Amino acid sequence: MIDQALHWLKKTFTNYSSLVFDPKDFDPPPSTQLLILQPTPFCNLDCDYCYLPNRDSHARMPLDTVRKVAEQLKQDQLLSPMLSVVWHAGEPLVLPIQFYQSAFETFNEVLGDICQVFHSIQTNATLIDADWCELFKNYQVRIGVSIDGPQFLHDKHRKTRQGKGSFNQVNKPRKISQT
Ligand code: SF4
Repeated sequence: MIDQALHWLKKTFTNYSSLVFDPKDFDPPPSTQLLILQPTPFCNLDCDYCYLPNRDSHARMPLDTVRKVAEQLKQDQLLSPMLSVVWHAGEPLVLPIQFYQSAFETFNEVLGDICQVFHSIQTNATLIDADWCELFKNYQVRIGVSIDGPQFLHDKHRKTRQGKGSFNQVNKPRKISQT
């Protein structure tokens, strides 16, 4: 696949008139299997190694953008039979649950006939409660939890906005599962 991509780049840039991506130049043809969406740059934590410059911003992705992304994927006709959508960076769970209900339904509505869509959320796990668990269960959402190991390590860098360690808040999912 890398050889083919290099061949395509060489061909494209030595012949400007063919500056068009054509999946037929690839064998097997490329397919979209992974989509990463940033629903908001905002994060409720303030880890000292965080690379996100705008994590104070409360901007959020409009649902209209989610629909446009799904429609563009459909239009491209490059979808693999299984598409993984990862919601990531800043903290996705600062958005309301209804945002994800609507977003997941939009993906189902636009792409449900042509591929299977799986959703994943990468989270610091400080905001998970029973209602979130219900959403995860209903839509079979895969969850990745960011944690830095035992408390003494985690609390060194993964701080709350008040500068305190966040380890005890991250424990919430474990507590929920024990109830
Ligand atoms: S939880 Fe993640 S996004 Fe939030 S401040 Fe820490 S590293 Fe950055």
